[in-house]
Amino acid sequence: MKVPDQQGHFGKYGGQYVPETLMALLEDLEKNFRQSWQDPAYKKAFKTLLREYAGRPTNLYEAQRLSRYFETLKVYLKREDMLHTGAHKINNTIGQVLLAKRMGKKRVIAETGAGQHGVATATVCALMDIRCEVYMGAEDIERQALNVDRMRLLGAKVVPVNSGSRTLKDSMNEAIRDWVTNVRDTFYVIGTVAGPHPYPWMVREFQAVIGQEARTQFLKKTGKLPDYLVACVGGGSNAMGLFHPFFNDKGVRMIGVEAAGRGIKTGQHSAALGAGAAGVLHGTKSKLLQTPDGQIVIAHSIAAGLDYPGVGPEHSYYQQIGRAEYVSVTDQEAISGVHLLSRTEGVIPALESAHAVSYLEKLAKKAKPGSSVILCLSGRGDKDMGTIKSGQSI
Ligand SMILES: *Cc1c(COP(=O)(O)O)cnc(C)c1O
Repeated sequence: MKVPDQQGHFGKYGGQYVPETLMALLEDLEKNFRQSWQDPAYKKAFKTLLREYAGRPTNLYEAQRLSRYFETLKVYLKREDMLHTGAHKINNTIGQVLLAKRMGKKRVIAETGAGQHGVATATVCALMDIRCEVYMGAEDIERQALNVDRMRLLGAKVVPVNSGSRTLKDSMNEAIRDWVTNVRDTFYVIGTVAGPHPYPWMVREFQAVIGQEARTQFLKKTGKLPDYLVACVGGGSNAMGLFHPFFNDKGVRMIGVEAAGRGIKTGQHSAALGAGAAGVLHGTKSKLLQTPDGQIVIAHSIAAGLDYPGVGPEHSYYQQIGRAEYVSVTDQEAISGVHLLSRTEGVIPALESAHAVSYLEKLAKKAKPGSSVILCLSGRGDKDMGTIKSGQSI
């Protein structure tokens, strides 16, 4: 079965659970993306910017000291942390803002939690000379002052959101509201493989460059395919970007690492796949953190980029059909992951990516000796230095 289908379903997940006023917009967006994605001129512009502006291809680096530490694993890092703006998010914002320009839109809006997607969007909007407004929870604006300054420096307007928990999920609600009101001239750039169809599919297509490159690079280096793929999962875009191109390689096992926060039992975590149930949020059906009567529960993670109560529908589907496995790692374990990679390889990972690094400790205990792993190093840790320093004592 080809996923998503025409209505954007990944098995029983995905779809378009939106008010009728949004349907025409989504159909228009889908039509434009479908056409653009088949247009050599658009693809060339996308590929050129990825290469010359963002810094692709990223290296697939054999982490020998880290591998020696684990003994049983041979670890390769897909270095998305080396991209412009420091993470994989720019792959997607380049694709979407190019599409916005092509559709003749005059204004781009985005939602952001930690500010990483906001910065990646503001960056590409500056480059392409298009107005940019970013919705951000008032709570997040306080916590992530540096990224707010970055967005403003890049010429974007940061709009504080004071409703609900004043965090990411509320910013997404506000962005959707804005989009419905200003349909004609506005393009909404979603930051991960979530939201209504066509977003999960479109964002996956933009991020799949991660897995396409990694697959070719790994084959070239070793002459075979890896045993494992490991990536952290917030909304799920870096993980899906790595996983998707390996979907048909049955021998390659995929492991997504969610945030267990203060521990799954405390209820303060972001493990939508591990501990959530099916429901509808932000226009899509997927696994969600919710109360028994369907109210969304506030997520927690030390990594701001993982702090989302939902997850992309394609991951829920991969979990359901058993194509990928989803595990979780606590705040404390993620901090250990930061230290481990910093000390063994001289690479300071983002707290999000450190969840994936930390899971290798567990994988190393059960994997067959000599197993090879591609780990998606989704971003660099500079942005997290404050948290990492205070986290040493949590
Ligand atoms: C935003 C972010 C994530 C989480 O987003 P996904 O859509 O799950 O990839 C992971 N790592 C970094 C560095 C991020 O900035």
